[in-house]
Order: sequence, then C-alpha cells, then structure tokens
Amino acid sequence: MSAPEEKQNIVIIGGGIIGCTTAYYLTHHPQFKPSVHTITLIEAAKLANGASGKAGGLLAAWANPSNLARLSFDLHDQLARDHNGAELWGYRRVQCGQLTAVVSQRKDTSKLESSSHPNIDLGKWWAGDPKKSSVLPHDLDWFDHKSAQTYEEFADTSSTAQVHPFQFTNSMARLAEQSGARIIMGKVEHINCCNADGASESTSPLTSFDDLTQKKVVSVTYVDKITLEQHILPATTVVLAAGPWTPTLFPRVRIHPLRAHSVTIKLKRPVSAYCLFSDIRLSDSRPTVGAAKPISLEIYARPNNEVYICGQGDLDIPLPPPGNAVEISPDTCHDIINAAMSVSDELRNGKVTGRRACYLPTLDVGASSDPLVGHTELAGLVLATGHSCWGISNAPATGKAISELIIDGKVSCMDVASLDPRRIR
Ligand SMILES: Cc1cc2nc3c(=O)[nH]c(=O)nc-3n(C[C@H](O)[C@H](O)[C@H](O)COP(=O)(O)OP(=O)(O)OC[C@H]3O[C@@H](n4cnc5c(N)ncnc54)[C@H](O)[C@@H]3O)c2cc1C
Repeated sequence: MSAPEEKQNIVIIGGGIIGCTTAYYLTHHPQFKPSVHTITLIEAAKLANGASGKAGGLLAAWANPSNLARLSFDLHDQLARDHNGAELWGYRRVQCGQLTAVVSQRKDTSKLESSSHPNIDLGKWWAGDPKKSSVLPHDLDWFDHKSAQTYEEFADTSSTAQVHPFQFTNSMARLAEQSGARIIMGKVEHINCCNADGASESTSPLTSFDDLTQKKVVSVTYVDKITLEQHILPATTVVLAAGPWTPTLFPRVRIHPLRAHSVTIKLKRPVSAYCLFSDIRLSDSRPTVGAAKPISLEIYARPNNEVYICGQGDLDIPLPPPGNAVEISPDTCHDIINAAMSVSDELRNGKVTGRRACYLPTLDVGASSDPLVGHTELAGLVLATGHSCWGISNAPATGKAISELIIDGKVSCMDVASLDPRRIR
C-alpha cells in the first residue's frame, strides 16, 4: 500500500482578482484532492475591494508581458464559455482604438483647464502598427465625430475583449468556494516562519531582516473581521496576492502604489462595444488654456448601457492600510466627467452612477517591471503580485501557473522564467 499523501495547507492572502483566480485554478486542477489540499483565501475587507473591483476590465492578447497575456486571453475565453461569463461577468469581444479630440470651450468644460496636477500614465501600451484614420468608425456613433481629430485602430475583436472586473472576481471566488475552497474575512498580520532545518521548533513573524534561505513558512496570523479575534492558521504554502499591500507582509517587494480615479455613467441606450484611449484638448487659444495639458481618459463601453471612464494616476495620497477607505478626490472625478461629457452627447445625457479611486500594484524593482509569479527564497512562500495595469487581463494565466507550481511542482502552461520573484534582491 502506498504511503498517504502529505496534507497541504495552502493559504492565499488577498481576495482581489489574482487571489480569487488562483483559488479557482487550484480547486479546478486535475490533481486537486480535498482530502490532501486545504485551500483558504483570506481577505481583509471584501472580495474585489481594491483595483480588482474598480478597474476597467479590458482584456488583451497584446497586453504585456506577452507570456502571460496570450495564454490569459485564451483562458478568459474558456472561462466565459465554461461558466456563462457573458451573463455572469459581462464577457464580450470589443474593438479598441486610440483617438485625439479637440473640444470647443464651453461652460461645463471649464474645469479642464485646471487639470494641472501631475498625472501619471497607467502604462497600458500597444506595440503594434495602428491603422491611422482621420475619421471615426461609423458604428462609434456615441462619440462626437466633430471633435475627433485622429483615430487609430489598436486591435479588433480577435485579440481584445472585456469583463466586469468586480463580477468576474466574485464569480471566481464563488466557483472556487463551490469546489472546496474556504474564504475567510480577516486581515493577515504576519506570515510566520521557522528554521528550515527543523533544528528549532520556534516560529517568528517574517521580517525584512530574515535570511530567507534558512527558513520556511509555517503559518499566518490573522484578525477576524467580525469577531476581531486573532487566529493562527497553519500553512505549508502561502500565496501572497495582496496587490499594492504586498510589501506590508513581505517588505522585500517594493511597490509604488499609483492611485487612479474612475467614474461610471449609465446611458439611455446600449452603445457599440468600443474601448477607447483618448486625449482630449480644449480648442480655446487663450494663453492659460494653451498651457493646459490634454486630459487622457480610457473610455470603455460596457454591455449594461454603462460606460466606464478612468483617468491617469497620481501619487498624491499614500496607500491606506488594507481594508481602509481610499480617499477619492471629487475634483479629479469632476475633471474626468467633464472631459468625457464634452466629447459625447450620449455621455452628457447619461447619469453618473459611481465615482471611485483605487491603487495599481506597480512594481519598483529596477529593470523588469513584469509581475512576480512564483517561488521566493523563503520555502513555502509564493508570490502572485505586481500586475500593474494589466492584472484583470493577466489573472487567469497567473492563477493557472500558480496552481501548477503548487500541485505539480512545476509550471507547464507557459514559460515563467521572466516572472521569477527571486530576481529581486
Ligand atoms: C483605474 C484602473 C483601471 C484598470 N484597468 C484595467 C484593465 O482595464 N485591464 C486590466 O487588465 N487591468 C486593469 N487595471 C489593473 C488591475 O486592476 C490590477 O492589476 C489588479 O486588479 C490587481 O489585482 P490584485 O488581486 O493583485 O490586487 P488588488 O485588487 O489590490 O487585491 C488585493 C487584495 O488583497 C487584500 N489584502 C491586502 N492586504 C491584506 C492582508 N494583510 N490580509 C488580507 N487581505 C489583504 C486587499 O484588501 C485586496 O482586496 C486597472 C487598474 C486601475 C487602478
């Protein structure tokens, strides 16, 4: 008789899209056995509380890094087919283009000229050869054709799609839960380690001073969100998927948390499926206005008569602790709304339904800013973080890779060498 398989307690920290998709792929791995693998996801606030619930939801086979992007695009398509994603999380193929627009000065666009605080590009870029045109596609009928100056087609429906990120993340968590994962609402305070050689039984919280190569993960300490009681959860593997909060538990990872604002506008009718990158400039030639920069917006039509619009990022307000409210700047939301409404009668006649802000997990690790996906030098600690502006698109491939790494001991769905967390020191 063969020896019983050793139990694995897998603890995922973070209920954003990366943590929830990882839980999904672990519980759907062909070798997943509930009698052997215990999977627990711990979230400090609520599922998809951070960027994963407030992002645009653009999916692109042409996103970066390319090893994650292509596979992830196909996996999103597969997930949507397997679980009715069109209905449950608004999955659909979209057109994607970039345009510049000039709008004439009006009362309701006056705020545009005060948009002088330093804005930082969110970093979505496309390396292809756009098809340039001076006219908008005829079915892009909800954008004001008179104000559009140039239009470039980035990509068509063969390589571009979208999801509603909040619905997708929650669906992944629910599917993982139905297949055996446990979800706990609580804030992880520490990842605990002991000596890897087993010479000493004593455990201690992971600190930035530890020699990681001498230690292994044994548990996490968390505070339950409802009871406020502290618990210790044994762990053979910890997947750290805490987005911009990753350094609070593993300081070796350096992240620049970039805040970005977004709004949603409910329209009176459905509009064609376009995701647009736009630069909007005032035509007024007064000197003060001449100095104003164009405002850059990502404008995404969604299936439910909703349009999602986000602006650029800023470093004005430091990242709050996990679970705490993110400060929203009413002025920044106002700028976004005014700029968007200045280029579309449909948007102007719509109703603003949400104003939000959240933080991108943007790595500050030197040469390569690719996400960190894989083992660390600390035995049992796996990272799945730093997805910057492409975490929605790249989540399924990340989750699948992590599930293979933990259950099979190696990743076979793609080459993850460039994502190795051990490249950071
Ligand atoms: C405005 C905006 C638009 C975007 N648009 C797109 C897009 O169109 N397409 C795309 O691909 N990407 C987009 N992104 C990027 C994408 O949203 C992120 O890359 C992605 O959401 C990161 O997911 P995550 O799970 O790593 O982090 P998060 O969503 O931040 O989740 C981390 C979770 O961990 C929890 N947590 C943290 N610390 C602890 C702790 N100690 N204990 C327990 N839980 C903890 C947090 O509460 C949080 O819920 C956008 C981002 C922004 C800001």
